[in-house]
Amino acid sequence: MAKPETKIITCIGCPSGCEMTVTKIGDTFQVEGNQCKRGEKYAIEEFTAPKRILTTTLQVKNGVLPLIPVRTDKPIPKERLFDCMKYLSSIIVPAPIKMGQILVKNVLGLNANIIASRDLDKK
Ligand code: SF4
Repeated sequence: MAKPETKIITCIGCPSGCEMTVTKIGDTFQVEGNQCKRGEKYAIEEFTAPKRILTTTLQVKNGVLPLIPVRTDKPIPKERLFDCMKYLSSIIVPAPIKMGQILVKNVLGLNANIIASRDLDKK
């Protein structure tokens, strides 16, 4: 039988920031330290398939600034962050841009869009 594996994970579900201990025993998980079910779900996800919001910048054509800060509109698998950064480094978007505007749809097929984090006017 596989040796139990343990990780300490801090929940980001609310300001309480519960520190949880997740132990994988075979195919099952034991979570301790969470104050609610949301924490348990997050802990198991973070243990098995951690996700993050990607924040970066895109190049802008004809804008008052050469770059615009952007982010994914939902978390993407942590192990794909570098692929996304690499892909986005080749993308150039035209100004004007509105905050929240989708600049890249379904980036790398990850079911998340790249959206603008601010307005940016045309030159
Ligand atoms: S486990 Fe529940 S109470 Fe604790 S930080 Fe997460 S969401 Fe908040």
